[in-house]
Amino acid sequence: MMGSKVQYAVIGLGRFGGAVTRELFNMGREVLAIDANEDLVREYSSYSTHAMIANTTDEATIKALGIKNFNYVIVAIGDDIQASILTTLILKEIGVENVWVKAQNEYHHKVLEKIGADRIIHPEKDMGTRIAQHLVSQHVIDYISLTEEHSMMEIKATDKLAGKTLVEVNIRQRYSCTVVAIWRNDELIMTPLPGEVIQEGDILMMIGKKSDLTQFSEKEL
Ligand code: ATP
Repeated sequence: MMGSKVQYAVIGLGRFGGAVTRELFNMGREVLAIDANEDLVREYSSYSTHAMIANTTDEATIKALGIKNFNYVIVAIGDDIQASILTTLILKEIGVENVWVKAQNEYHHKVLEKIGADRIIHPEKDMGTRIAQHLVSQHVIDYISLTEEHSMMEIKATDKLAGKTLVEVNIRQRYSCTVVAIWRNDELIMTPLPGEVIQEGDILMMIGKKSDLTQFSEKEL
């Protein structure tokens, strides 16, 4: 353990787990890369803080990795659903706080939910949703599904919005959406007041129903 730094571990270094590992490492985060495949572990030793060969369906092996105290463990085992479930179960049993798991299908999702996975990811589905949002509006920077119905959306304010206050745009009344924060240059304005004047290039972080957010981005950007 290195001080109080947030520690991440990624189990399974396929395309998804590999991308998560590289990105965390590139962002200067402490990341332990784990896979049963020796060649992948060798490859990822250059893109992680530590890389280890291990079969994570074995409780003793997981315990020996000292993974219990990691803040986030991402289970990115794909095809072998049984191994993914067993690994998740062991991680939750030994008390890992945040276990995020890639799911292959709805059945896999249901089991993961039951055994306490903290976040279940469907990379293709999630990416498809985001791409659709980008297609509808190039100004949508990010899009996170919160529930089946609600989302959080980050949009870049265009010149059409610039110079208006939040209350002038009347986002809450007209679209039933809430601007929870605004990124302006390097400053984060939390819960902006109704009189806040939007500037071109501001990143508005909004929460609302998916249909309402889409309507907002179609009409106002
Ligand atoms: P992607 O689509 O992200 O490439 P995938 O869905 O094809 O991934 P797999 O290739 O099946 O996923 O699994 C990802 C990795 O998980 C593989 O490199 C595999 O070696 C590793 N893996 C599978 N089972 C275990 C296990 N029990 N312990 C550790 N690693 C495992």
